[in-house]
Amino acid sequence: MARYTGPVCKLCRREGEKLFLKGERCLSPKCPFERERGYPPGDHGRLAQFRRRRLSDYSRQLREKQKARRIYGVLERQFRRYFREAEHRPGLTGENLLVRLESRLDNVVYRTGYASSRAQARQLVQHGHFTVNGRRTNIPSYIVQPEDVVAVRDESRKADYFKMLAQDGMDEGKLPGWLSLDAKNLATRVLMLPTREQIDTTLNEQLIVEYYSR
Ligand code: SF4
Repeated sequence: MARYTGPVCKLCRREGEKLFLKGERCLSPKCPFERERGYPPGDHGRLAQFRRRRLSDYSRQLREKQKARRIYGVLERQFRRYFREAEHRPGLTGENLLVRLESRLDNVVYRTGYASSRAQARQLVQHGHFTVNGRRTNIPSYIVQPEDVVAVRDESRKADYFKMLAQDGMDEGKLPGWLSLDAKNLATRVLMLPTREQIDTTLNEQLIVEYYSR
């Protein structure tokens, strides 16, 4: 279960936009992207912001693919595997890819609102705080299916973190339409796999398809 362990904010500067990888910090004035005006990392980063550079088609495709990987916290090999699986499914490959990424257990935990970032959601899953259909599951890349129920484990509900979440009440307003939350029991039901319209992202999946179709 390899993951990226380098500096996270640098990834936003590399992509030239905020990827919201650090939860609440991303919305605060402490966000380095705001402070450092988002110039690219590296020795020539400051200069690069003054240069007008027209990106080639390949660069745009590559950057979109990297952005998607970084947003969902997936390494290249696994991402490529998701793409190959998406290709073999009926429908549009780009949409299939996004659906696959959204169906990861760590993403469901994040979308439900148990964590303020996917990285935090991944950690909560790895620490064994969740069950899927009653079975403890600590694999962030686990792919959920319609009618699956993702719940906080009974033992974990006693932890201060989850007690506070239950007390404060989960914000069901932000829950995407393909999930339903039983806030009292801290349980999320997967109603269906998400449609493209239900996936809140600025990613242009067509560019990713073009990248892998070269
Ligand atoms: Fe990106 Fe968040 Fe870091 Fe800002 S705080 S640079 S949005 S990861």
